[in-house]
Amino acid sequence: MSETFPALLIRDKDNAKAELMELSRSDLPDLPVLVRVDYSSLNYKDGLAVTGKGRIARRFPMVPGIDIAGTVIESDAEAFKPGDKVIANGHGMSETAWGAYSAFQRVEPKWLMPQPEQFTQKQAMAIGTAGYTAALCVNQLLAWGAVSVDEGSVLVTGAAGGVGSYAVALLSSLGFSVTASTGRPETHAYLRQLGASNFIDRQELSEAGKPIQAERWSGAVDSVGSTTLANVLAQTVYGGAVTACGLAGGADLPATVIPHILRSVALIGVDSVMAPLKRREAAWRLLQAQLTPEQIDLATEGEVGLADLPEAAEAILAGRIRGRMVVEVA
Ligand code: NDP
Repeated sequence: MSETFPALLIRDKDNAKAELMELSRSDLPDLPVLVRVDYSSLNYKDGLAVTGKGRIARRFPMVPGIDIAGTVIESDAEAFKPGDKVIANGHGMSETAWGAYSAFQRVEPKWLMPQPEQFTQKQAMAIGTAGYTAALCVNQLLAWGAVSVDEGSVLVTGAAGGVGSYAVALLSSLGFSVTASTGRPETHAYLRQLGASNFIDRQELSEAGKPIQAERWSGAVDSVGSTTLANVLAQTVYGGAVTACGLAGGADLPATVIPHILRSVALIGVDSVMAPLKRREAAWRLLQAQLTPEQIDLATEGEVGLADLPEAAEAILAGRIRGRMVVEVA
């Protein structure tokens, strides 16, 4: 381990843009496992943290980055030994705990999972929190039980984004007919390759509609929120279910209880950050069982290093990234 190593650091809440600098081992938090961060990824939340536009960090200074694929260098925890390949997603990294955008990081053992066998480190980060959250959503729809491959179409909003791309891929691999809602018609060919069979323009869902509308979707994975989610709920079939995990279109929910009390529509919230281990393991099992290497390649727009991450962070917030960006850290 070299004396100093590169990291992105947010100094304080008045200097909330992350800056590239050199850290040394003594700067790292006093936690039991030292990991070399080989790869990370860029999520919407990382975009908010790195640009300082989202007030994600609640402690300063802060190293942002919510996804780690790394190698254990030292460990005071029995469960992990030097050389182990591990991943971590969420667990307050970027908010209250230092995260992935540092060539070395110290973490709690309970944040770590063994790297999923079927994926390389790069693939695990091409999936990252976005793919793992899509898998949490799909597992919730499956567990709800009312969404069946024989009935109607499942809608994915924000389809060309990270969560959306993996939701499309997983649902289509499972045999569902998938409708993709996107504001970027130029991504239709991409989404069709991932498995979408129908498309709607996101504009159709972003204008306020009636509390109850024609039944269109047997289920939905929504990462947009706001009016979009209200319309999706109003268009879901009797007994269907909608998972809500994101706020790319806004954090409000201008909806009524009508779809829930007249059609038994379920709104299922999905959080990836503090999800219990069992749910995480089930999500990664689903990803390993359903994703092909071709789908992962397709959903990966490219790679960036730490130095180029601030620019990529602006791009993800502006909706200019298709699928996922992998971050080369160490
Ligand atoms: P991305 O930026 O990759 O994707 C978001 C997509 O949403 C965009 O690609 C775009 O899709 C669509 N979108 C963006 N702005 C708007 C808008 N104003 N109105 C309608 N649609 C819009 O982000 P991620 O996939 O990484 O994350 C998506 C959301 O999910 C974020 O809000 C993120 O914070 C949240 N999230 C939550 C998690 C949790 O634990 N609950 C975990 C992971 C993500 P298109 O171009 O196809 O229209």
